Amino acid sequence: MTGHFIISLDYEIHWGVFDKRSVEEYRENLENVGNVINRLLEMSDKYGVKLTFSTVGFLFATDKNELLKYAPKNKPSYDVKKHSPYPLLETIGDNEEEDPFHYGLSGVKKIVANGNHEIGTHTFCHYYCHIPGQTVEQFDDDINSAVNIAKSKGIEIKSLVFPRNMIDVHESSDQPLLNVLKKHGITSFRGKENSFIYNIHTTKFYKNWLVLKFLKFLDAYVSVTGPNTYNVVKINKDNEVINLPSSRLLRAYSDKFKMLEPFKLKRIKRAMTHAAKQNEMFHLWWHPHNFGAQTDENFNTLEEIFKTYKSLNETYGFQSETMTGLTRKIKAAR
Ligand SMILES: [Zn+2]
Repeated sequence: MTGHFIISLDYEIHWGVFDKRSVEEYRENLENVGNVINRLLEMSDKYGVKLTFSTVGFLFATDKNELLKYAPKNKPSYDVKKHSPYPLLETIGDNEEEDPFHYGLSGVKKIVANGNHEIGTHTFCHYYCHIPGQTVEQFDDDINSAVNIAKSKGIEIKSLVFPRNMIDVHESSDQPLLNVLKKHGITSFRGKENSFIYNIHTTKFYKNWLVLKFLKFLDAYVSVTGPNTYNVVKINKDNEVINLPSSRLLRAYSDKFKMLEPFKLKRIKRAMTHAAKQNEMFHLWWHPHNFGAQTDENFNTLEEIFKTYKSLNETYGFQSETMTGLTRKIKAAR
């Protein structure tokens, strides 16, 4: 199998940051998500790139009634209540026209209409699997809601991205989460980078948190952890639900670290080239709202990445795929 280029986008609007920032505090980024989606589709058409939009289930709802109709009875009982988005439902508008920060069906429809991309799930309520207090049964109910609201719009959910990447495939305690995916017909998920600075169970590790944060920051510009590309057939030899681990978060353009931007791009191009030559997967991800500010600068970076893809595609047969597209190929190859 040739190398593959995967892009997954955590499509969430305010539901991705509701427990960290209010709409007002992040307004510019959130307001531009619709425009970012349009430009993503346009640029992907130009370069023949496929995208996987891992979408929060709330965004599929036409209005609040419909959202509540699909919401599970058994909601996540986090010890720290602020992580539950359900109390916020009382304050949001009734539909997308009134409140484009909490509904997103028009964006979902545009992606589907394009025909080249995949709509996956980012859980129904931006569910946190590693926050204490919640249970696997609650996760199961959440995924059930996510799959059903999508089905009501004619969309079959086959792939998943865990909010805040709260999955650790090396922990046996996380196996039941993968069983839930299997039960609901989800065939792949985005795991974490294999390197230890990314791959630490989120509930266990806090004491060297700042050191890790710094290493992750550094790793965006210079190689701390290597290319993080994977032989996906080999790593999924025994997996029922296919793990498509992250290679890299595409960090938003930063004025503060402007002079480091060329290093960020170079690091990504090198890893893509490595994947293409070694017939491995390079999996890039970010959130549409990351491109909501300094949109032109961010799209300039992305266009450079897409040009690199195009050239690797011509030279090495490097292929762009959706998560489910690649999952099918992996299952056929083993
Ligand atoms: Zn998210």
